[in-house]
Amino acid sequence: MTITSGAPPIAFLDLPAQQRRLGAKLKQRVDTVMQHCRFVLGPEVTELEEKLATYGGAAHCVGVSSGTDAIQIVMMGENIGPGDAVFLPAFTYTATAEVPLLLGATPVFVDVDPETYQIDPVNLRERIEKVRKDGKLKPRAIVGVDLFGLPAPWEVLRQIAAEYELFLMDDCAQAFGASYQGHKLGHEAAATTLSFFPSKPLGGYGDGGAILTDDADKAELYRSLRSHGEGKTRYEVLRTGINGRLDTLQAAVLLAKLEGFEEELIRRDDIAQAYTAGLEDIVVAPADVEDCQSAWAIYSILLKDADERATTQARLKDAGVPSAIYYPLPLHKQPAYRSHHDGVALPVSESLSQRILALPIHPELTDAEVARVIAAVRG
Ligand SMILES: *Cc1c(COP(=O)(O)O)cnc(C)c1O
Repeated sequence: MTITSGAPPIAFLDLPAQQRRLGAKLKQRVDTVMQHCRFVLGPEVTELEEKLATYGGAAHCVGVSSGTDAIQIVMMGENIGPGDAVFLPAFTYTATAEVPLLLGATPVFVDVDPETYQIDPVNLRERIEKVRKDGKLKPRAIVGVDLFGLPAPWEVLRQIAAEYELFLMDDCAQAFGASYQGHKLGHEAAATTLSFFPSKPLGGYGDGGAILTDDADKAELYRSLRSHGEGKTRYEVLRTGINGRLDTLQAAVLLAKLEGFEEELIRRDDIAQAYTAGLEDIVVAPADVEDCQSAWAIYSILLKDADERATTQARLKDAGVPSAIYYPLPLHKQPAYRSHHDGVALPVSESLSQRILALPIHPELTDAEVARVIAAVRG
């Protein structure tokens, strides 16, 4: 069945339209960098760091080269390494688990809540208790991920981290701009990591990331780690670091985008509300969680089973409506990671990966396109 009747395909992410909308602002910011030529740690990086810290309600912000490097720098700052257990959700992007492994630590996969898809505090406690009982690994850190743009259950995560004396960090790659208990994410944990990958709500035009923290000493340590472990002068090496700086050009793009970010978040929320109103009688729509405002990096519906998802996805494709699966395999089932898993079933993550389907959500979508997406899902 084709219901497009010549209508152009809808974009999953429309960067050309975004560029047209940002227009002169963007060009001016980029031109300024081309004039001063301070491409590495130029003034735009400092300006962006200040603005992001204010926005996220954190005392300090350190711009880095990606969301993954942000996680790595934070974990290096805690000396996380061999013998350490890092607790993180099984249902998230690969980067969250990749970093502890790169540092020689062991990711311990935790199941997620069946309604919010966020890390499940009950299962988290069980997983921590098991690691303690087994006695092979030292529990060190919890990574809360604000999956799809919705805040993780920070209050409970803080209680659990305090109780077991674990470092708590926020992988906020998908959720900068989201609110928790009435304030923006950015200071729920000891460190918050951001990603500016182009598809994230605050996306740049290449790789980029940042770390937010209230701890001045840690901020200084992160600055050193992102520049090869340098000390007060460039050629004093205090520790092993990485080349993990944020590009000035990316900072310039992000400064231009930050100006209209609130309006983009409002538009994303309008689209999400329209999808939910138009679809919640036939599919499971994202949960409306009290005291949480999502940044809507991803809007995912849940179908009955893998077969229904496959037919829905095929029907959408015929109608020129793109869709995507985040994530087709939970991390504990991934070829690269399954040997690090203790083999316990994580049934919610396993079921979600079979049934979940993401619909396009970005500020450039028109109301007519939103209606077309709804009609295509309904069939
Ligand atoms: C995108 C993402 C990252 C990694 O960010 P990059 O900037 O692509 O390195 C980490 N965690 C989550 C949950 C993400 O979605």
